[in-house]
Amino acid sequence: MIADQYSISQISEILKAKAVLTTPEAGIRKLLTDSRTVIDPEGSLFFAVNAQRDGHQFIKDAYENGVRNFVIVDSAYTEKFKDANFLLVNDVLQALQALATYNRKANDLKVIGITGSNGKTIVKEWLYQLLASDFNIIRSPKSFNSQIGVPLSVWQINAEHNLAIFEAGISTKNEMEILADIISPSIGVLTNIGEAHAEGFESKAEKLTEKLKLFKDVELFVYAPEYVSDVAEADLPGKRKFTWSLHLPADLKVSFIEPIEGKNYIRATYKEKEIECLIPFSDKASVENGIICWATLLAMGYTPEEADLRLEKLTQVSMRLELINGIENCSVIDDSYSADISSLAIALDFLNLQNQHPKKTLILSDIYETGKTNEVLYAEISALLAQKNLNRLIGIGPNISAFAGLITIESSFYASTQDFIEKLPAIHFANETILVKGARRFEFGRISKLLTQKIHDTVLEINLNALASNLQFYRSKLNQGVKVMAMVKAFSYGSGSFEIANLLQYHKVDYLAVAYADEGIALRKAGITLPIMVMSPEPSAFEAMVKNHLEPEIYNANILKSFLNFLPAHEKDFPIHLKLDTGMHRLGFEAVDLPDLLEILKDNEQLKVVSIFSHLVASAEAEHDGFTQHQLDEFERLYATLVSTLGYMPIRHILNTSGVIRWPQAQLDMVRIGIGLYGFDGALNNNKGLQTVAILKTTVTQVKNLNAGETVGYSRKGIMPTGGRIATVKIGYADGYSRKFGNGVGKMLVKGKLVPTVGSICMDMCMLDVTGLNVKTGDEVIVFNDKHTIVDLAEQIGTIPYEILTNVSQRVKRVYFYE
Ligand SMILES: *Cc1c(COP(=O)(O)O)cnc(C)c1O
Repeated sequence: MIADQYSISQISEILKAKAVLTTPEAGIRKLLTDSRTVIDPEGSLFFAVNAQRDGHQFIKDAYENGVRNFVIVDSAYTEKFKDANFLLVNDVLQALQALATYNRKANDLKVIGITGSNGKTIVKEWLYQLLASDFNIIRSPKSFNSQIGVPLSVWQINAEHNLAIFEAGISTKNEMEILADIISPSIGVLTNIGEAHAEGFESKAEKLTEKLKLFKDVELFVYAPEYVSDVAEADLPGKRKFTWSLHLPADLKVSFIEPIEGKNYIRATYKEKEIECLIPFSDKASVENGIICWATLLAMGYTPEEADLRLEKLTQVSMRLELINGIENCSVIDDSYSADISSLAIALDFLNLQNQHPKKTLILSDIYETGKTNEVLYAEISALLAQKNLNRLIGIGPNISAFAGLITIESSFYASTQDFIEKLPAIHFANETILVKGARRFEFGRISKLLTQKIHDTVLEINLNALASNLQFYRSKLNQGVKVMAMVKAFSYGSGSFEIANLLQYHKVDYLAVAYADEGIALRKAGITLPIMVMSPEPSAFEAMVKNHLEPEIYNANILKSFLNFLPAHEKDFPIHLKLDTGMHRLGFEAVDLPDLLEILKDNEQLKVVSIFSHLVASAEAEHDGFTQHQLDEFERLYATLVSTLGYMPIRHILNTSGVIRWPQAQLDMVRIGIGLYGFDGALNNNKGLQTVAILKTTVTQVKNLNAGETVGYSRKGIMPTGGRIATVKIGYADGYSRKFGNGVGKMLVKGKLVPTVGSICMDMCMLDVTGLNVKTGDEVIVFNDKHTIVDLAEQIGTIPYEILTNVSQRVKRVYFYE
């Protein structure tokens, strides 16, 4: 039914692999490197790539998901799964790349390759929007631009396509040559070259030279001369060149940019004539990306008039999924900007990672996928939905409705978005996670709005990808076999509950830790199955803890005795964690307490000590390294004493975030990572290597002009000697914005500028001095983000990032993003 791209035996020949085939004729339609994202198991070929972990570890997972075709290095697996096909190669990543290269060579079509430091994905998506009416286009899904992402993208080219648009990103030397071979672009587009990602390179020139390798054989090269000034003109690639510039002579010489009502009107000289276009965006980055697209259209031979018509219709590219609380105790995932099968698969994976409600519903529009007939497309979608354990489909649009017969799960169909909205009151939604996924023209934003009661006031945005990347950062620093306990106490340091735990569970951390039993119970209710340690177990919560398999931290003999008194006689080997005090002097057993403790634990069959741990008081601070070493030694000593009586070896752990890098020899069996997941580590210079997870935003409610000598706020604290303009914003001390930020101590970002507070911080509001800025009601205001950081705020009021983050009160809405 769905066209096979190659058979497994053909692929074996292409890769010159040693094949162990049970079904040599098996057709391959999809390539996989992640065992969790299976769409079409029978038609999938799993590449056991060594990425963050050895891909061979996931063969079993993929097999259990129905995959029967594998590319591997380790021949032992061929014995374990007898009914599967295996291709044995020397290097799995190289094999993946070789297969993509083969597929590229087998298809003769125009290919636009895009690289640069910023804007690659936007330019790619915009060129797609601009050219979709003239070509059958295949493009990289999302920002698939890596050594793995590029081959997966290029594999998707088939005979139906006559244009491909791929982006390529590199982080270090010698990567681009490989991507250049796979993509083999005929048109090269260079976006901007910034300072970003300079780390893997010795210099900017080296970075640029490496990037330009993508374009070594292009027919046409589109670029701005100022970005390539480090390279001699004779060394620039491209049989034909097309330049654009704001400052230097160029084929498209921009002369004038005027912002009007959220858009930008741009004039330029082209072929000695004045031409113009309207970019329907106001920000600087969009203007530059728009000009790059403009140049590309002209270079491809479009007339200035045609280019202008098309550019005017560009729409926002959003790659993010938004998870937000909805009506009737639902969670809503808003992905109302695009609909194609690869982004649908990604969104469904995110839906599947949500455990908080038993039921999952997808609201899906017609999909416009080039290169596939509707029969094939909707059959594929039907298989995808069945395989992803969806409970219900709501289809909107004439095409999806016409193929209703193919859908095997509970489903209903509506002719249009309007039709659905009119019937919405009669549709039942309760306790479910709803994915809203629609092509742009269906304007599903209207649907998400109705399902979520969207808020635009003060919002804490949590970037789940950044959190996953921070987890990965610490994992990469761990010695072989060291486990991770993720600290999600205090509402995950203020950033969320099950939303964070779901992600950590998906990424397979080993343990979670919360402060109180009720935090753990909330996670269990939301479907979190990881082991959870409770650091302050209260006797009143023992029953609920045992019922919910929450494991207490035992820090003195009293709590141990009362837990044992409570524990029903039939419970055997109930897991507990022993906390030792090696210097914090807060909670925990000291050397003198051990005999009593061991007296109780010896021969006790009701309890099992699963871990023994202690906490460092100054893991980040070099001046206390002597004391830290003392703590480590003391811990080893106490642990040895305990083990000699217990007769078994519980998990040992002592490091928190800042210890991981500074004390690698003390990683022991497990580390406990807290603040590092959220993007801060006192042991790193400027948190280098970590990403910002949380952004706190609010909005302007009113703007006032004040005369000289007028005052602002309670007790006339805010004095405006020369008058000026103030903006009132919707955040106050009840939201967690401390009164200490008042009277100019605190600053916020308004229109990219840092402005001080004026007067005292009120309970629900505060005032900013925006004199000289063009600010109006409804404008966005950043309290903290990656530029104006939590560390800056902590310094302003003399505290630590932990407190700023956990202070953001629960009434501030959380919105979770996933790309
Ligand atoms: C909070 C906590 C951690 C995590 O500390 P970070 O500095 O946030 O990594 C580790 N261990 C214990 C016992 C904690 O209470």
